[in-house]
Amino acid sequence: MFKLDEQTQMVGSVVRQWCQAALAPKIPALEAGTEMPFELMKKMAKQFGFDAMLGGAVRKRLAKLRSGEASDPDKMMSAASASPMMMHVVVKELSRVSPGFAMGFGVSMGLVGGAIVAKGTPDQIERWGLPLATLDLIGSWCLTEPGAGSDAFGAMRTTATPDGASYVLNGSKTFITNGPGADVFLVYAKVDRGEPEAGRGVSTFIVERGLPGVTVGPPFKKMGMRDSPTSEVFFDGVRLGVEHLLGGVEKGRGGRTDTKDSLGNERSGVPAMAWGIIERCYDASLAYVRERKQFGRAIGEFQAVQLKITDLFLKLRTVENVVYRLAWMQQHGVRDMPFINASKAMSAQLAVDAAMTAIQIHGGYGYMEELGLEKLARDAKLLELGAGTTDINLLAAARELIGATE
Ligand SMILES: Cc1cc2nc3c(=O)[nH]c(=O)nc-3n(C[C@H](O)[C@H](O)[C@H](O)COP(=O)(O)OP(=O)(O)OC[C@H]3O[C@@H](n4cnc5c(N)ncnc54)[C@H](O)[C@@H]3O)c2cc1C
Repeated sequence: MFKLDEQTQMVGSVVRQWCQAALAPKIPALEAGTEMPFELMKKMAKQFGFDAMLGGAVRKRLAKLRSGEASDPDKMMSAASASPMMMHVVVKELSRVSPGFAMGFGVSMGLVGGAIVAKGTPDQIERWGLPLATLDLIGSWCLTEPGAGSDAFGAMRTTATPDGASYVLNGSKTFITNGPGADVFLVYAKVDRGEPEAGRGVSTFIVERGLPGVTVGPPFKKMGMRDSPTSEVFFDGVRLGVEHLLGGVEKGRGGRTDTKDSLGNERSGVPAMAWGIIERCYDASLAYVRERKQFGRAIGEFQAVQLKITDLFLKLRTVENVVYRLAWMQQHGVRDMPFINASKAMSAQLAVDAAMTAIQIHGGYGYMEELGLEKLARDAKLLELGAGTTDINLLAAARELIGATE
Protein backbone atom coordinates (compact mmCIF):
# COMPACT_ATOMS: atom_id res chain seq x y z
CA MET A 1 0.00 0.00 0.00
CA PHE A 2 2.85 2.41 0.74
CA LYS A 3 4.85 1.84 -2.43
CA LEU A 4 4.07 3.01 -5.93
CA ASP A 5 3.89 0.19 -8.46
CA GLU A 6 6.30 0.26 -11.40
CA GLN A 7 3.76 1.58 -13.89
CA THR A 8 2.77 4.47 -11.60
CA GLN A 9 6.42 5.34 -10.98
CA MET A 10 7.03 5.38 -14.71
CA VAL A 11 4.00 7.59 -15.38
CA GLY A 12 5.19 9.93 -12.61
CA SER A 13 8.65 10.28 -14.13
CA VAL A 14 7.28 10.82 -17.66
CA VAL A 15 4.92 13.54 -16.37
CA ARG A 16 7.81 15.14 -14.46
CA GLN A 17 9.87 15.32 -17.65
CA TRP A 18 6.91 16.77 -19.55
CA CYS A 19 6.43 19.41 -16.83
CA GLN A 20 10.06 20.49 -17.14
CA ALA A 21 10.05 20.53 -20.93
CA ALA A 22 6.56 21.83 -21.76
CA LEU A 23 4.88 23.34 -18.68
CA ALA A 24 7.66 25.16 -16.81
CA PRO A 25 8.65 27.39 -19.78
CA LYS A 26 5.01 28.52 -20.11
CA ILE A 27 4.62 29.60 -16.49
CA PRO A 28 5.58 33.29 -16.98
CA ALA A 29 3.03 33.73 -19.81
CA LEU A 30 0.34 31.78 -17.95
CA GLU A 31 0.95 33.77 -14.74
CA ALA A 32 0.84 37.06 -16.65
CA GLY A 33 -2.42 35.98 -18.33
CA THR A 34 -1.00 36.53 -21.82
CA GLU A 35 -1.64 32.85 -22.54
CA MET A 36 -4.43 30.50 -21.41
CA PRO A 37 -3.56 26.97 -20.27
CA PHE A 38 -6.23 25.15 -22.29
CA GLU A 39 -4.25 24.38 -25.46
CA LEU A 40 -1.45 22.99 -23.30
CA MET A 41 -3.94 20.79 -21.42
CA LYS A 42 -5.18 19.40 -24.73
CA LYS A 43 -1.61 18.77 -25.89
CA MET A 44 -0.86 16.96 -22.64
CA ALA A 45 -3.95 14.76 -23.08
CA LYS A 46 -2.88 13.87 -26.63
CA GLN A 47 0.71 13.17 -25.64
CA PHE A 48 -0.27 10.91 -22.74
CA GLY A 49 -2.95 9.06 -24.69
CA PHE A 50 -5.98 10.13 -22.63
CA ASP A 51 -8.19 9.25 -25.58
CA ALA A 52 -7.14 5.60 -25.54
CA MET A 53 -6.90 5.34 -21.75
CA LEU A 54 -9.75 7.41 -20.25
CA GLY A 55 -11.77 7.72 -23.46
CA GLY A 56 -11.62 3.95 -23.83
CA ALA A 57 -13.02 3.44 -20.33
CA VAL A 58 -15.84 5.93 -20.95
CA ARG A 59 -16.71 4.22 -24.25
CA LYS A 60 -16.86 0.87 -22.44
CA ARG A 61 -19.22 2.33 -19.83
CA LEU A 62 -21.34 3.83 -22.57
CA ALA A 63 -21.60 0.53 -24.44
CA LYS A 64 -22.66 -1.23 -21.23
CA LEU A 65 -25.28 1.41 -20.39
CA ARG A 66 -26.69 1.31 -23.91
CA SER A 67 -27.00 -2.47 -23.79
CA GLY A 68 -28.68 -2.31 -20.37
CA GLU A 69 -25.72 -3.89 -18.52
CA ALA A 70 -24.69 -2.70 -15.07
CA SER A 71 -21.69 -0.33 -15.06
CA ASP A 72 -20.13 1.00 -11.86
CA PRO A 73 -18.57 4.43 -12.55
CA ASP A 74 -16.27 4.00 -9.52
CA LYS A 75 -14.65 0.98 -11.19
CA MET A 76 -13.92 2.92 -14.40
CA MET A 77 -10.38 3.77 -13.40
CA SER A 78 -9.35 0.14 -13.22
CA ALA A 79 -10.97 -0.40 -16.62
CA ALA A 80 -8.83 2.49 -17.86
CA SER A 81 -5.72 0.77 -16.42
CA ALA A 82 -5.20 4.03 -14.52
CA SER A 83 -5.42 3.40 -10.79
CA PRO A 84 -6.63 6.22 -8.52
CA MET A 85 -3.05 6.45 -7.21
CA MET A 86 -1.80 7.02 -10.75
CA MET A 87 -4.12 10.00 -11.16
CA HIS A 88 -2.97 11.39 -7.79
CA VAL A 89 0.65 11.04 -8.92
CA VAL A 90 -0.13 12.93 -12.14
CA VAL A 91 -1.74 15.74 -10.09
CA LYS A 92 1.23 15.72 -7.69
CA GLU A 93 3.76 16.03 -10.51
CA LEU A 94 1.81 18.87 -12.19
CA SER A 95 1.48 20.63 -8.82
CA ARG A 96 5.25 20.64 -8.25
CA VAL A 97 5.45 23.08 -11.15
CA SER A 98 1.98 24.58 -11.45
CA PRO A 99 -0.77 23.83 -8.91
CA GLY A 100 -3.05 26.07 -11.02
CA PHE A 101 -2.58 23.93 -14.11
CA ALA A 102 -3.28 20.82 -12.02
CA MET A 103 -6.43 22.45 -10.63
CA GLY A 104 -7.77 23.48 -14.06
CA PHE A 105 -7.11 20.02 -15.47
CA GLY A 106 -8.68 18.32 -12.42
CA VAL A 107 -11.80 20.51 -12.50
CA SER A 108 -12.37 19.95 -16.21
CA MET A 109 -11.63 16.26 -16.50
CA GLY A 110 -12.35 15.00 -13.00
CA LEU A 111 -15.05 17.21 -11.56
CA VAL A 112 -17.09 18.13 -14.64
CA GLY A 113 -16.27 15.18 -16.90
CA GLY A 114 -16.42 12.76 -13.95
CA ALA A 115 -19.87 13.98 -12.83
CA ILE A 116 -21.33 13.69 -16.34
CA VAL A 117 -19.81 10.25 -16.94
CA ALA A 118 -21.05 9.01 -13.53
CA LYS A 119 -24.51 10.62 -13.49
CA GLY A 120 -25.34 11.54 -17.08
CA THR A 121 -27.63 9.73 -19.52
CA PRO A 122 -25.87 7.74 -22.27
CA ASP A 123 -26.51 10.62 -24.71
CA GLN A 124 -25.00 13.13 -22.27
CA ILE A 125 -21.98 10.89 -21.70
CA GLU A 126 -21.43 10.60 -25.45
CA ARG A 127 -21.97 14.29 -26.21
CA TRP A 128 -20.14 15.87 -23.26
CA GLY A 129 -18.68 13.27 -20.85
CA LEU A 130 -16.41 11.60 -23.40
CA PRO A 131 -14.85 14.77 -24.87
CA LEU A 132 -14.40 16.16 -21.34
CA ALA A 133 -12.60 12.97 -20.24
CA THR A 134 -10.20 13.30 -23.17
CA LEU A 135 -9.90 17.12 -22.70
CA ASP A 136 -11.23 17.76 -26.20
CA LEU A 137 -13.71 19.97 -24.33
CA ILE A 138 -12.87 22.12 -21.31
CA GLY A 139 -15.32 22.22 -18.43
CA SER A 140 -16.16 24.51 -15.50
CA TRP A 141 -17.91 23.50 -12.30
CA CYS A 142 -20.38 26.22 -11.26
CA LEU A 143 -21.63 26.15 -7.68
CA THR A 144 -20.41 29.33 -5.93
CA GLU A 145 -22.40 32.56 -6.33
CA PRO A 146 -21.64 36.12 -5.25
CA GLY A 147 -23.90 35.69 -2.19
CA ALA A 148 -23.53 31.92 -1.78
CA GLY A 149 -20.08 30.60 -0.83
CA SER A 150 -19.91 28.39 2.27
CA ASP A 151 -23.74 28.44 2.34
CA ALA A 152 -23.81 27.22 -1.26
CA PHE A 153 -27.27 25.63 -1.14
CA GLY A 154 -29.12 27.81 1.37
CA ALA A 155 -28.18 31.10 -0.27
CA MET A 156 -28.26 29.88 -3.91
CA ARG A 157 -30.16 32.34 -6.13
CA THR A 158 -29.64 30.78 -9.58
CA THR A 159 -32.97 29.35 -10.74
CA ALA A 160 -34.15 27.04 -13.46
CA THR A 161 -37.81 27.76 -14.15
CA PRO A 162 -39.75 25.05 -16.00
CA ASP A 163 -41.43 26.38 -19.14
CA GLY A 164 -43.24 23.75 -21.21
CA ALA A 165 -40.70 21.07 -22.13
CA SER A 166 -37.72 23.24 -21.24
CA TYR A 167 -36.14 25.26 -18.41
CA VAL A 168 -35.13 28.89 -18.29
CA LEU A 169 -31.90 29.48 -16.38
CA ASN A 170 -31.22 32.79 -14.63
CA GLY A 171 -28.45 33.76 -12.22
CA SER A 172 -24.72 34.12 -11.93
CA LYS A 173 -21.79 32.12 -10.59
CA THR A 174 -18.47 33.47 -9.39
CA PHE A 175 -14.86 32.36 -8.82
CA ILE A 176 -15.31 29.80 -11.60
CA THR A 177 -12.13 27.91 -12.48
CA ASN A 178 -11.60 27.66 -16.28
CA GLY A 179 -14.53 30.11 -16.73
CA PRO A 180 -12.74 32.29 -19.30
CA GLY A 181 -12.15 29.36 -21.68
CA ALA A 182 -14.63 26.62 -20.82
CA ASP A 183 -16.79 25.02 -23.51
CA VAL A 184 -19.18 23.43 -20.99
CA PHE A 185 -20.47 24.68 -17.63
CA LEU A 186 -21.93 22.27 -15.09
CA VAL A 187 -24.39 24.56 -13.31
CA TYR A 188 -26.22 23.95 -10.03
CA ALA A 189 -29.59 25.72 -9.86
CA LYS A 190 -32.78 25.64 -7.80
CA VAL A 191 -35.79 24.48 -9.79
CA ASP A 192 -38.43 27.15 -9.27
CA ARG A 193 -42.01 25.90 -9.49
CA GLY A 194 -43.29 28.79 -7.39
CA GLU A 195 -42.97 26.97 -4.05
CA PRO A 196 -41.28 28.66 -1.03
CA GLU A 197 -37.51 28.87 -1.55
CA ALA A 198 -36.59 26.55 1.31
CA GLY A 199 -38.41 23.64 -0.34
CA ARG A 200 -36.77 23.95 -3.76
CA GLY A 201 -34.56 21.13 -4.98
CA VAL A 202 -31.15 21.62 -6.56
CA SER A 203 -30.66 20.21 -10.05
CA THR A 204 -27.62 20.17 -12.29
CA PHE A 205 -27.59 21.52 -15.85
CA ILE A 206 -25.07 21.11 -18.64
CA VAL A 207 -24.75 24.50 -20.31
CA GLU A 208 -22.72 25.16 -23.45
CA ARG A 209 -20.78 28.35 -23.88
CA GLY A 210 -22.39 29.44 -27.18
CA LEU A 211 -26.01 29.30 -25.97
CA PRO A 212 -27.92 32.62 -26.07
CA GLY A 213 -27.84 34.29 -22.64
CA VAL A 214 -24.51 32.78 -21.48
CA THR A 215 -21.75 35.35 -20.86
CA VAL A 216 -18.41 35.15 -19.10
CA GLY A 217 -16.59 37.90 -17.18
CA PRO A 218 -12.91 38.76 -17.62
CA PRO A 219 -10.31 36.73 -15.68
CA PHE A 220 -10.00 37.87 -12.04
CA LYS A 221 -6.65 39.18 -10.83
CA LYS A 222 -5.63 36.85 -8.00
CA MET A 223 -3.02 36.39 -5.27
CA GLY A 224 -2.04 32.97 -6.60
CA MET A 225 -3.15 30.23 -9.01
CA ARG A 226 -2.58 32.90 -11.66
CA ASP A 227 -1.94 30.19 -14.23
CA SER A 228 -5.55 29.03 -13.73
CA PRO A 229 -8.00 31.58 -15.19
CA THR A 230 -11.03 32.27 -12.95
CA SER A 231 -14.12 34.35 -13.80
CA GLU A 232 -17.78 35.06 -13.25
CA VAL A 233 -20.34 33.33 -15.48
CA PHE A 234 -23.78 34.86 -16.15
CA PHE A 235 -26.98 33.15 -17.24
CA ASP A 236 -29.68 35.45 -18.53
CA GLY A 237 -32.82 33.62 -19.69
CA VAL A 238 -30.84 30.63 -21.02
CA ARG A 239 -33.32 28.15 -22.52
CA LEU A 240 -32.38 24.51 -21.87
CA GLY A 241 -34.09 21.35 -23.09
CA VAL A 242 -34.37 18.31 -20.81
CA GLU A 243 -31.29 16.88 -22.55
CA HIS A 244 -29.32 19.50 -20.59
CA LEU A 245 -30.61 18.26 -17.21
CA LEU A 246 -27.91 15.96 -15.76
CA GLY A 247 -29.28 12.41 -15.67
CA GLY A 248 -32.46 13.58 -17.41
CA VAL A 249 -34.48 13.83 -14.19
CA GLU A 250 -34.92 16.48 -11.53
CA LYS A 251 -33.37 15.33 -8.27
CA GLY A 252 -35.48 17.39 -5.88
CA ARG A 253 -33.73 17.67 -2.54
CA GLY A 254 -31.59 14.66 -3.53
CA GLY A 255 -29.71 17.03 -5.85
CA ARG A 256 -27.84 18.36 -2.82
CA THR A 257 -26.46 14.87 -2.20
CA ASP A 258 -25.24 14.71 -5.81
CA THR A 259 -23.45 18.02 -5.32
CA LYS A 260 -21.93 16.81 -2.06
CA ASP A 261 -20.61 13.73 -3.92
CA SER A 262 -18.84 16.07 -6.33
CA LEU A 263 -17.53 18.19 -3.45
CA GLY A 264 -16.18 14.99 -1.84
CA ASN A 265 -14.38 14.17 -5.11
CA GLU A 266 -12.99 17.70 -5.32
CA ARG A 267 -11.73 17.56 -1.74
CA SER A 268 -10.16 14.13 -2.37
CA GLY A 269 -8.03 15.75 -5.09
CA VAL A 270 -6.58 18.51 -2.91
CA PRO A 271 -4.06 16.43 -0.87
CA ALA A 272 -2.28 15.36 -4.10
CA MET A 273 -1.84 19.05 -4.97
CA ALA A 274 -0.49 19.70 -1.45
CA TRP A 275 1.81 16.68 -1.87
CA GLY A 276 3.35 18.19 -5.03
CA ILE A 277 3.86 21.57 -3.38
CA ILE A 278 5.44 20.08 -0.25
CA GLU A 279 7.64 17.64 -2.15
CA ARG A 280 9.08 20.45 -4.31
CA CYS A 281 9.66 22.58 -1.16
CA TYR A 282 11.42 19.66 0.53
CA ASP A 283 13.60 18.76 -2.49
CA ALA A 284 14.63 22.38 -3.06
CA SER A 285 15.36 22.97 0.63
CA LEU A 286 17.39 19.79 1.07
CA ALA A 287 19.61 20.70 -1.89
CA TYR A 288 19.96 24.30 -0.72
CA VAL A 289 21.01 23.59 2.87
CA ARG A 290 23.80 21.37 1.54
CA GLU A 291 25.18 23.95 -0.90
CA ARG A 292 24.53 27.34 0.75
CA LYS A 293 27.42 28.42 2.98
CA GLN A 294 27.33 31.05 5.73
CA PHE A 295 29.83 31.58 8.54
CA GLY A 296 32.13 29.22 6.60
CA ARG A 297 29.78 26.23 6.86
CA ALA A 298 26.86 24.74 4.91
CA ILE A 299 23.69 26.13 6.52
CA GLY A 300 22.51 22.51 6.91
CA GLU A 301 25.04 22.23 9.77
CA PHE A 302 23.07 24.72 11.88
CA GLN A 303 20.59 22.98 14.16
CA ALA A 304 17.86 25.59 13.64
CA VAL A 305 17.99 24.81 9.92
CA GLN A 306 18.14 21.05 10.52
CA LEU A 307 14.88 21.24 12.49
CA LYS A 308 13.18 22.90 9.52
CA ILE A 309 14.29 20.05 7.25
CA THR A 310 12.77 17.44 9.58
CA ASP A 311 9.62 19.53 9.74
CA LEU A 312 9.33 19.55 5.91
CA PHE A 313 10.12 15.83 5.76
CA LEU A 314 7.32 15.02 8.22
CA LYS A 315 4.85 17.22 6.35
CA LEU A 316 5.80 15.44 3.13
CA ARG A 317 5.33 11.95 4.55
CA THR A 318 2.10 12.91 6.33
CA VAL A 319 0.43 14.21 3.17
CA GLU A 320 1.84 11.38 1.06
CA ASN A 321 0.22 8.90 3.46
CA VAL A 322 -3.08 10.79 3.27
CA VAL A 323 -2.98 10.40 -0.52
CA TYR A 324 -2.21 6.66 -0.25
CA ARG A 325 -5.23 6.24 2.02
CA LEU A 326 -7.48 8.27 -0.28
CA ALA A 327 -6.36 6.14 -3.25
CA TRP A 328 -7.00 2.98 -1.26
CA MET A 329 -10.48 4.26 -0.33
CA GLN A 330 -11.24 5.08 -3.98
CA GLN A 331 -9.99 1.68 -5.13
CA HIS A 332 -12.19 -0.11 -2.57
CA GLY A 333 -15.29 2.09 -2.81
CA VAL A 334 -14.88 3.37 0.78
CA ARG A 335 -16.41 6.82 1.31
CA ASP A 336 -14.97 8.06 4.61
CA MET A 337 -16.26 11.65 4.48
CA PRO A 338 -14.81 12.82 7.82
CA PHE A 339 -11.39 11.70 6.60
CA ILE A 340 -11.87 13.36 3.18
CA ASN A 341 -12.98 16.65 4.75
CA ALA A 342 -10.45 16.79 7.59
CA SER A 343 -7.46 15.54 5.61
CA LYS A 344 -8.17 18.10 2.85
CA ALA A 345 -8.04 20.86 5.46
CA MET A 346 -4.87 19.49 7.07
CA SER A 347 -3.05 18.94 3.76
CA ALA A 348 -3.86 22.50 2.66
CA GLN A 349 -2.48 23.93 5.89
CA LEU A 350 0.67 21.80 5.69
CA ALA A 351 1.25 22.99 2.11
CA VAL A 352 1.00 26.66 3.15
CA ASP A 353 3.33 26.07 6.11
CA ALA A 354 5.81 24.08 3.99
CA ALA A 355 6.03 26.81 1.35
CA MET A 356 6.71 29.42 4.05
CA THR A 357 9.33 27.19 5.70
CA ALA A 358 11.06 26.60 2.35
CA ILE A 359 11.19 30.36 1.72
CA GLN A 360 12.66 30.88 5.20
CA ILE A 361 15.34 28.25 4.55
CA HIS A 362 16.25 29.97 1.26
CA GLY A 363 16.46 33.40 2.90
CA GLY A 364 16.20 36.35 0.48
CA TYR A 365 16.60 34.04 -2.53
CA GLY A 366 13.41 32.26 -1.49
CA TYR A 367 11.54 35.54 -1.82
CA MET A 368 12.65 35.98 -5.44
CA GLU A 369 10.39 34.90 -8.29
CA GLU A 370 13.13 32.95 -10.04
CA LEU A 371 13.13 30.02 -7.58
CA GLY A 372 9.37 29.50 -7.84
CA LEU A 373 8.89 29.07 -4.08
CA GLU A 374 7.03 32.36 -3.67
CA LYS A 375 4.63 31.14 -6.39
CA LEU A 376 4.04 27.90 -4.51
CA ALA A 377 3.29 29.90 -1.33
CA ARG A 378 0.76 32.08 -3.17
CA ASP A 379 -0.79 29.06 -4.88
CA ALA A 380 -0.92 26.93 -1.70
CA LYS A 381 -3.15 29.49 0.04
CA LEU A 382 -6.00 28.68 -2.36
CA LEU A 383 -6.07 25.11 -1.02
CA GLU A 384 -7.30 26.57 2.30
CA LEU A 385 -10.17 28.39 0.53
CA GLY A 386 -11.35 26.39 -2.48
CA ALA A 387 -13.51 23.25 -2.22
CA GLY A 388 -14.76 24.74 1.06
CA THR A 389 -12.65 26.77 3.48
CA THR A 390 -10.55 25.02 6.13
CA ASP A 391 -13.05 25.84 8.88
CA ILE A 392 -15.98 24.59 6.79
CA ASN A 393 -14.11 21.34 5.98
CA LEU A 394 -13.20 20.76 9.66
CA LEU A 395 -16.72 21.59 10.86
CA ALA A 396 -18.21 19.19 8.28
CA ALA A 397 -15.87 16.44 9.53
CA ALA A 398 -16.81 17.15 13.15
CA ARG A 399 -20.55 17.09 12.40
CA GLU A 400 -20.17 13.76 10.59
CA LEU A 401 -18.14 12.28 13.47
CA ILE A 402 -20.54 13.50 16.16
CA GLY A 403 -23.70 12.93 14.15
CA ALA A 404 -24.76 16.53 14.81
CA THR A 405 -27.01 18.39 12.35
CA GLU A 406 -25.60 21.89 13.02
C1 LIG B 1 -9.25 30.77 -7.16
C2 LIG B 1 -10.59 30.20 -6.79
C3 LIG B 1 -11.15 29.22 -7.60
C4 LIG B 1 -12.43 28.72 -7.31
N1 LIG B 1 -13.02 27.82 -8.18
C5 LIG B 1 -14.32 27.50 -8.00
C6 LIG B 1 -15.02 26.73 -9.00
O1 LIG B 1 -14.44 26.31 -10.02
N2 LIG B 1 -16.35 26.47 -8.81
C7 LIG B 1 -17.02 26.92 -7.72
O2 LIG B 1 -18.21 26.65 -7.63
N3 LIG B 1 -16.39 27.64 -6.74
C8 LIG B 1 -15.07 27.95 -6.87
N4 LIG B 1 -14.42 28.71 -5.90
C9 LIG B 1 -15.18 29.19 -4.78
C10 LIG B 1 -14.78 28.58 -3.42
O3 LIG B 1 -15.24 27.26 -3.33
C11 LIG B 1 -15.34 29.51 -2.34
O4 LIG B 1 -14.53 30.69 -2.36
C12 LIG B 1 -15.37 28.89 -0.97
O5 LIG B 1 -16.33 27.89 -0.89
C13 LIG B 1 -15.65 29.93 0.13
O6 LIG B 1 -16.75 30.72 -0.16
P1 LIG B 1 -16.64 32.32 -0.04
O7 LIG B 1 -15.42 32.73 -0.78
O8 LIG B 1 -17.93 32.92 -0.47
O9 LIG B 1 -16.39 32.61 1.51
P2 LIG B 1 -17.51 32.77 2.65
O10 LIG B 1 -18.45 31.63 2.62
O11 LIG B 1 -18.09 34.14 2.56
O12 LIG B 1 -16.62 32.66 3.97
C14 LIG B 1 -15.89 33.78 4.51
C15 LIG B 1 -15.28 33.34 5.84
O13 LIG B 1 -16.32 32.98 6.77
C16 LIG B 1 -16.12 31.66 7.26
N5 LIG B 1 -17.41 30.99 7.45
C17 LIG B 1 -18.50 31.03 6.63
N6 LIG B 1 -19.49 30.30 7.14
C18 LIG B 1 -19.04 29.76 8.30
C19 LIG B 1 -19.60 28.90 9.30
N7 LIG B 1 -20.84 28.39 9.19
N8 LIG B 1 -18.84 28.56 10.35
C20 LIG B 1 -17.57 29.04 10.47
N9 LIG B 1 -16.98 29.86 9.58
C21 LIG B 1 -17.72 30.22 8.50
C22 LIG B 1 -15.28 30.96 6.18
O14 LIG B 1 -14.53 29.87 6.72
C23 LIG B 1 -14.39 32.10 5.70
O15 LIG B 1 -13.28 32.22 6.55
C24 LIG B 1 -13.12 29.18 -6.15
C25 LIG B 1 -12.52 30.13 -5.31
C26 LIG B 1 -11.29 30.64 -5.62
C27 LIG B 1 -10.69 31.70 -4.72
